Amino acid sequence: MTALEVSGISKSFGGVHAVRDVSFSVAAGEMLAMIGPNGAGKSTCFNMAGGQLRPDRGRVVLGGRDITGTPPRAIWRLGVGRTFQIAATFASMSVAENVQMALISHAGRVFDPFGRARRFARDEALELLAQVGLREQADRACGELAYGDVKRLELAMALANQPRLLLMDEPTAGMAPRERIALMALTASIARARRLAVLFTEHDMDVVFAHADRIVVLDRGALIAEGGPAEVRADVKVRAVYLGAGTTSGGH
Ligand code: ADP
Ligand code: MG
Repeated sequence: MTALEVSGISKSFGGVHAVRDVSFSVAAGEMLAMIGPNGAGKSTCFNMAGGQLRPDRGRVVLGGRDITGTPPRAIWRLGVGRTFQIAATFASMSVAENVQMALISHAGRVFDPFGRARRFARDEALELLAQVGLREQADRACGELAYGDVKRLELAMALANQPRLLLMDEPTAGMAPRERIALMALTASIARARRLAVLFTEHDMDVVFAHADRIVVLDRGALIAEGGPAEVRADVKVRAVYLGAGTTSGGH
């Protein structure tokens, strides 16, 4: 089943063609990596899928429903979760309270975050925290968490919305290599268990090749290759882009 289908999307900023006629799809339970050098148009694609940007041309279809140009909040309600490059948690609240906030927000209740969030949905929050390996940290203040744990908390908060599609733009930025592999391995296992579609970007090619079911490659706004890890790794155009940039680990 196709979770996300993007057809022929384009976006320009003034004279800059950030994304040109890009099409791809992500199936339920699939990990799709979008790679390409810095400035290739990856974040612009994410922002068009998540509703932060409206495409100049093309369509974004979520589970058969056209969501092109729909505002982010409405897209989020339709089951699109996002993790951001900058960790978006409330530092003074506990780990569990942050997840409780996300659960309450998903349930659509009007709430007083500093009163009721403490009591609502605690069991559910603890269950989600167990899934991301943070059960032991539930009652610590978020501000005390190690960076890698903040990213796992963000994942738990995104899952609280019961998404069918997760957009992860550089989720492992700033993490040590071992932590990156662990976060993406965790994401992959959750995606498979929940039949969740995941679109992610990642600079570390070891992580990409280990955890992506398929890969799409962007260069200067255009899609230049698409396929399984072995196919993409062997692609002449992909090699030219990465070798041309003087690195095998992507841009920054
Ligand atoms: P990536 O995420 O692959 O590094 P981006 O999608 O952020 O690439 O950027 C693609 C191109 O679009 C770049 O040339 C970038 O400078 C430009 N761009 C992105 N966002 C904006 C914006 N809001 N205004 C002007 N130019 C932008
Ligand atoms: Mg980017």
